[in-house]
Amino acid sequence: MTIGFEILARDGAARLGRLTTAHGVIGTPAFMPVGTAATVKAMTPEGVAATGARIVLGNTYHLMLRPGAERIAALGGLHRFMNWPHAILTDSGGFQVMSLAKLRKIGEDGVTFRSHLDGSAHLLTPGRSIEIQHLLGADITMALDECTPFPAPRETVEASMELSMRWAERSRRAFVERPGHAIFGIVQGGVYADLRKRSAERLVEIGFDGYAIGGLAIGEGQATTFAMIEASVPYLPADRPRYLMGVGKPGDLVGAVKRGVDMFDCVLPTRSGRTGQAFTRAGTLNLRNARHADDPAPLDPQCRCPACTGFSRAYLHHLTKAGEILASMLLTAHNLTYYADLMADLREAIARGELAAFPET
Ligand SMILES: [Zn+2]
Repeated sequence: MTIGFEILARDGAARLGRLTTAHGVIGTPAFMPVGTAATVKAMTPEGVAATGARIVLGNTYHLMLRPGAERIAALGGLHRFMNWPHAILTDSGGFQVMSLAKLRKIGEDGVTFRSHLDGSAHLLTPGRSIEIQHLLGADITMALDECTPFPAPRETVEASMELSMRWAERSRRAFVERPGHAIFGIVQGGVYADLRKRSAERLVEIGFDGYAIGGLAIGEGQATTFAMIEASVPYLPADRPRYLMGVGKPGDLVGAVKRGVDMFDCVLPTRSGRTGQAFTRAGTLNLRNARHADDPAPLDPQCRCPACTGFSRAYLHHLTKAGEILASMLLTAHNLTYYADLMADLREAIARGELAAFPET
């Protein structure tokens, strides 16, 4: 038994699910806050859990370079290290190698690169990526893939996808089965529907515990993102979780849930919180804006988070303008609560069979 995934209700293509991991149960559709360097920035683990999140994402690339996967393993694994008792999904490192590392060179074996921190040389292969994620103790491990740039010619995208599929097979072989732990494959293929289909079918042949859709929301636009979800989902097993990587804005999440996606991660709520941006039921607000300077009202009167229950917009504006650490803490807590509550509302709508009427804000 890897991880359990029960589908409790369906509404159109959407599913209400229950994911059971070695570190607890997660209601799906679910949003996973990003905990890049063994911390969700500006948040305590208790604060993250208070938003309602029961799974966070950790970054293999960052953790392998600093403090090192072997060190974290010797200290009891990532859950113990960061004092997060709930589930953790780790990415494969592929995306950050492409976006952050220097002098990277991709070959059949893997990718060689130099650390963006100290210039040290590294080789990330499918086997090493899976080994690192095992050392970290991830509940959900991701197969190593190559993140194809956008835009790119079809031949480039096709060759890249085929390489990712060969790496997916090697990743699957390297994965050590343990109860409550899973490995997900990643559908690639850029903005080409037939390549997405071929990639999905190849992954299903290999056989994974769950399936991610990768390489989207990198500039192709929401309509294309949705089209590529629709080009992938029909070829994925109905009884396994589906994860849309690195997406996105609230409206992207609603549209993807309606198209059958169960899991999401994105830096948007946390990164925006550190730059004074807040997601609310009335739209996105910039707390740096002077119009909040005298406003005694809460950020979002319907929100249950510490920023909205204890403070005025005027105070949050002041903290943001003054560059106070508390501004990042409160706005990150608010944004993660907003995302968690959006997912809870979506789960409720699926349970009631009312998802079609859910606004795609
Ligand atoms: Zn709030």
